[in-house]
Amino acid sequence: MRPCALPRQCKSIWYVKRVSFATEFDALPLPQLVQRSRTATRARVRESLERASRDLNDFAHLISPAAGEFLEEIARRSHALTVQRFGRVIRLFAPLYLSNECINVCQYCGFSRNNPILRVTLTLDEVRQETLALKGQGFRNLLLVAGEHPKFVSTSYLRECVQLVHQEVPSVSLEVGPLSVDEYRPLVQAGAEGLVVYQETYDRRVYAEMHLAGPKRDFQWRLTTPERAYAAGFRRLGIGALYGLADWRYEALAVAAHASYLLRHCWKAFLTISLPRLRPCAGEFQPRTTMTDRELVQLVCAFRLMFPDVGLVLSTRESPRLRDGLIPLGITLISAGSHTEPGGYTGAGRGHVHKTVRGRIMDAGSSEWAEPVPEDSSGATEQFAIADPRPVAEVVRRIMALGYEPVWKDWDAALCGPTTSAPNHVPLAQANKRTDPAVEPAPCGSTDR
Ligand code: SF4
Repeated sequence: MRPCALPRQCKSIWYVKRVSFATEFDALPLPQLVQRSRTATRARVRESLERASRDLNDFAHLISPAAGEFLEEIARRSHALTVQRFGRVIRLFAPLYLSNECINVCQYCGFSRNNPILRVTLTLDEVRQETLALKGQGFRNLLLVAGEHPKFVSTSYLRECVQLVHQEVPSVSLEVGPLSVDEYRPLVQAGAEGLVVYQETYDRRVYAEMHLAGPKRDFQWRLTTPERAYAAGFRRLGIGALYGLADWRYEALAVAAHASYLLRHCWKAFLTISLPRLRPCAGEFQPRTTMTDRELVQLVCAFRLMFPDVGLVLSTRESPRLRDGLIPLGITLISAGSHTEPGGYTGAGRGHVHKTVRGRIMDAGSSEWAEPVPEDSSGATEQFAIADPRPVAEVVRRIMALGYEPVWKDWDAALCGPTTSAPNHVPLAQANKRTDPAVEPAPCGSTDR
C-alpha cells in the first residue's frame, strides 16, 4: 500500500518547525531573561561563574549589573579560556566595500536609500585594484561588503567579485544581504567561505521602526539567513546585533540564543559573534540606547565564558585604547586600517561616483540632490566613521607588543579539497521561501561590524 501524502507533509512541517531558529526564537522567554539579568544577585553570579558549562540563565547572570562587581575575575577567566582555546593569536581581516548603493531604508545606516550621498559600485578592475592594495598590506582574509541593490549588486556581480578576489587571497567572506540557498551556492563555489549577517536588532518592534522600506523589513528572512548559508556550504558563519538600537542585554541574550542554536544545528561551521556599537554616519541617527565601555568589556567576557570556542570579532568602530584593552580578554578577530566606503583603499571608482536617490541615479540638475559631483570630491561616502584610524602596521605592532601573534591567513582551500555543501537540515524548498512574499528577494548588504 502506498503511504498517504498527508502524514509525510505533516512530518516535514514538524521537522522544519523543530529545526528552524525562527521557531525557537518565538518561544524564547527573552523579557524574563532580561529581568533575571537585571535582578541577579551576587550569589547567582558566583554560581554561574563556577559552572563548567553554562546556559542562557547563566549568561543572563554574567551580563547582569551584579556581575559588574566581578568584572576583574570574569575578565581573568575569559582571558585564560581564550588563550587555552585559541592560543595567543589575533586573526586580521579587512572589509572591502564593493558598493554603497542600497534600496533599503535603515534609519541608522549612512547608505540608507534616502540619504543623498555619493555612491558607486566598483567595476571588477577596481575590485582587483582594492584587493591588491589590501594584499600588499598583508591581508589574506577579506570581507566583501555591499549595500542592497539588485540592479547594481546582482548575484552574478557578487559571484564574479568573489572569484576575482579569491584568486588573490585564500579567505573570502561576504557581508551581503540575505539570499536563498540556491543563490548562495554559486558564491560558495566561486570561493566564498564565510557569510556574515547581523540581525541588527532582535527586538521585533524596534526592527520594524528601524527598517522603514525595502526587503530588509522581513525580520524572519534575515533571522534564518545563517541556516540557509550553512545549507549552501558556507564554512564560517558570523552573527551579531548592532548595539544602540534596543536594550543591550535583550540583544545579547538573543545573540546568545542564536549562537547556541547554530552551534547545535550548524555544527560543521565555525561561528563568530561580532559586537558592533553604533557609530556616527550620514543621516545623523542618534543611538537610542547606550552600552558603556565597561559593559562592552563585560559582554565580551560573558560571551567567551558562555561559548569557549566561538570567535569574537571587534571592528574599527571602537577606539584604539578600548581595542587594545580587549585583545587579551577574549577577542580573536579584528579588522584594521579599515575604510567603509567603496574604493577607500586606492581611490578606485572616483571617476564614476554619482548621487543616487531612492535607488535611481540622478541626472545633474534634476533635483536639489542632483548637483554635479565636485571634481575635487574624495570619492564615495563612507557607511560610518571609524574610531580606530591607525594604519595596519601600527595595529600589528601593538598586537605583538601585547604578546600576541597577528595571523593574516589561517587556512587554505587546498587543504580542504573541493567545496562541498554542508548537510541540509532544512528542506530546501522551505529554506528558500521568504517569510513575506510581498517582499522581493534581492542581494542585500550590511557592514564591517
Ligand atoms: S547597507 Fe545594509 S544597513 Fe545600510 S541601508 Fe543598506 S541594508 Fe541597511
